[in-house]
Amino acid sequence: MDNCIFCKIANGEIPSATLYEDEDFRVILDLGPASKGHSLILPKAHAANLMEMPDELAGKAMILAKKMAAKLVDTLGCDGLNVVQNNGESAGQTVHHFHIHLIPRRTDDGVVLGWKPGQLTEEDRDELLKSFH
Ligand code: AMP
Ligand code: ZN
Repeated sequence: MDNCIFCKIANGEIPSATLYEDEDFRVILDLGPASKGHSLILPKAHAANLMEMPDELAGKAMILAKKMAAKLVDTLGCDGLNVVQNNGESAGQTVHHFHIHLIPRRTDDGVVLGWKPGQLTEEDRDELLKSFH
């Protein structure tokens, strides 16, 4: 992907604050962090979103998220951490190269993530259960 900024960052063509690198991934500090230590896991191979990720790489990405999350919590001494991964513009994805956000959290840190809970209707439940079985 010639014009993908995260391809260029992941592959080292554009410099970044890199916390970790291996043959498949680069983990960088987000330039617009929600909190101190907000990091992004970028695969070096382009995939637009989770659905386009090869199975093996998707598995490795989650294992790396676990490893980086533990290291961030330990290093920063924070209380918690959100793992966020957006797919598609309607879901808030602005850079269309798969990435996982790691967002360190502290009680009352003022970071806003989330949604207003609705109510699962019987109609939706039945329709969805039918589609998945
Ligand atoms: P998303 O909305 O899930 O697509 O997230 C994109 C994230 O990438 C945002 O949190 C941005 O702050 C971050 N971002 C965009 N460009 C860069 C860049 N050049 N270096 C580091 N982070 C970036
Ligand atoms: Zn890319």
